Amino acid sequence: MSAENTTRTQVGIVGAGPAGLVLGQLLHLQGVESVILEARDRDYVEGRVRAGVLEQGTVDLLVEMGVGERLQREGLVHHGVELRFGGRGHRIPFDELTDGRGITIYGQQEVVKDLIAARLEAGAPLLFEVEDVMPEGIDSDQPSLRYRHDGQERELRCDVIAGCDGFHGVCRPAVPDGVLTAREHIYPFGWLGILAEVEPSSDELIYCHHDRGFALHSMRSPQLTRLYLQCEPDEDIANWPDERIWEELQIRFECEGWSLKEGPIVEKGVTPMRSFVAEPMQHGRLLLAGDAVHIVPATGAKGLNLAVADVRVMAEALVKWFSTGDETLLQSYSETCLGRVWAAQHFAWWMTTMFHRHPSDEDGFMARLQRAQLDYVCSSRAAATTLAENYVGLKKVSGG
Ligand SMILES: Cc1cc2nc3c(=O)[nH]c(=O)nc-3n(C[C@H](O)[C@H](O)[C@H](O)COP(=O)(O)OP(=O)(O)OC[C@H]3O[C@@H](n4cnc5c(N)ncnc54)[C@H](O)[C@@H]3O)c2cc1C
Repeated sequence: MSAENTTRTQVGIVGAGPAGLVLGQLLHLQGVESVILEARDRDYVEGRVRAGVLEQGTVDLLVEMGVGERLQREGLVHHGVELRFGGRGHRIPFDELTDGRGITIYGQQEVVKDLIAARLEAGAPLLFEVEDVMPEGIDSDQPSLRYRHDGQERELRCDVIAGCDGFHGVCRPAVPDGVLTAREHIYPFGWLGILAEVEPSSDELIYCHHDRGFALHSMRSPQLTRLYLQCEPDEDIANWPDERIWEELQIRFECEGWSLKEGPIVEKGVTPMRSFVAEPMQHGRLLLAGDAVHIVPATGAKGLNLAVADVRVMAEALVKWFSTGDETLLQSYSETCLGRVWAAQHFAWWMTTMFHRHPSDEDGFMARLQRAQLDYVCSSRAAATTLAENYVGLKKVSGG
């Protein structure tokens, strides 16, 4: 590799999703150099509509990092959530149950736009449309990332590689066989999600349990409603013309004195439900974060928040190492993160199991258990607090 095609940095970050961008910004603020390599182009990354529920801790961190100005102006702060079952709504007041904490609705693509703008304004390197990224030398103290950019083969030498490249990225597979243990749970259903140009029908999210399956009312802005319906994991979206989607949503959300507003559907898609964790989250000089190493079903709204929580731990560990040579935090990175990861996995699994119709539940046994659990959550302060404190994000997790 010629000298002009070889560069050096302290941290080579693969992926400009929430994990990679938050990490880059945290490191930049502490004077640690990094280069972010992203496979897609900027428009694609900034237009990718995914998560939208930010935990209190995520919002606080983004504000502290100096990227929260638009979030605070445009984000919708929610102090509670509605659980709807048996045709009746029950509100869980987050603020009362968690000392004033709440969630903020602000699209993942908006978080990503704000972070990219901050990175480019700081003049920190972020390369889009990078091809064939390959982590090398992760077992040595001189790892590197080989990649192609603008038709040129290049090499980025670094002290450590941060694999923030999502579930289908190249970093997790770069770990030698036998090092990682992967645990996975595939749910026998998926979510059919739509984005509709219509004012939300409620000020807060509605999680709905119904004999025909789960439904969720959410929003992205005062003009955009996000709605989900439980469906088959391999559901063919072609079987769901807009009229059928609205008809089914109206049935599942039916509640006296409330109506679901309809509008043009501008986006629709099917997402399977999966839980996945690979551990440890590090090997040699490679540290993995976010979807690159764990996936949660969207029911608990934890995916983006967990990605941010991982890189917060990673940034602190790297800053300590670069500034003092002390490796303690770096060595315990995986162990520190996994406490929160498994707590979030449990919460997402619990919410998923409590709300979704189970295909094998022929005599309705599971449905009766779900109703008993929902009644308990809505009538016991202790049970409601469990849901509320997990939903807004646990402050401290054992090991985390
Ligand atoms: C369709 C969908 C809907 C979702 N909905 C929700 C939701 O409603 N609520 C919720 O909480 N979570 C949701 N999630 C999960 C949430 O979006 C993720 O947890 C979050 O994006 C994780 O951030 P990340 O940075 O770890 O990974 P990602 O956002 O996946 O970012 C990884 C980045 O790496 C890049 N990349 C991949 N491979 C390479 C490579 N080889 N070289 C360079 N770059 C590479 C990708 O292009 C991407 O930009 C959803 C996910 C999906 C896929």
